Amino acid sequence: MGTSFKTSSFICPSCSTSFEARIVKSVTHQGQDSDFFPHYLGENPLPFFLVRCPECGYCAYPEDYAPSMVNQNKAHQTYIKKVLSMPVAKKLPEEALKFFVAGKVYEENARNPYHIGNLYLRGSWCCRLIENRKLEIELQQLAVKFLKEAVEKSTITNPDNIPVVIYLVGELYRRLEDRQSAREWFGSVEEYIIDNDQQWILELTQKQAELNEHFIN
Ligand SMILES: [Zn+2]
Repeated sequence: MGTSFKTSSFICPSCSTSFEARIVKSVTHQGQDSDFFPHYLGENPLPFFLVRCPECGYCAYPEDYAPSMVNQNKAHQTYIKKVLSMPVAKKLPEEALKFFVAGKVYEENARNPYHIGNLYLRGSWCCRLIENRKLEIELQQLAVKFLKEAVEKSTITNPDNIPVVIYLVGELYRRLEDRQSAREWFGSVEEYIIDNDQQWILELTQKQAELNEHFIN
């Protein structure tokens, strides 16, 4: 039970430094927030889902360091420096910064917006953990932008995920206090449900849509 880790070796695709980093081997969780932030048992695994180069600050998932992936996920060191000097980057806690940098690296490589949105969403969870609502909002805004793009450009490969992401966009808008947009996105979940196994997402949508109409966030 709890989180377990392992140590692996990596070579940075940006500056070619070799280093070792701790990554997540397994997690357990009990329950989740309404934007799918799992309530992990044991040590918080979030920052260890990503690998950060200790030399240049490049960040990505462990699998992005595989030689076959390097060309899809390159970033010049000048680009990473530019990202790290952005005002928001300077304010973010270390855990959230890893997700922010990885998101920017993915943006630079025009990766699937679904994955970019997920990186920023996880960064927003890191800010929630330290109760920094202002920074959480900044990353939620980025997450919603890319998750929306993923739905609009149909880049979500698994059709089962489409109603889930539409719900998530609605829920992020609700959390950002944009009630009108939340209402629109919650309202279109149903038409994307393809089988009975997805009834749960419809029920969750109805619950959060109700909150959106009747409660202050
Ligand atoms: Zn590096």
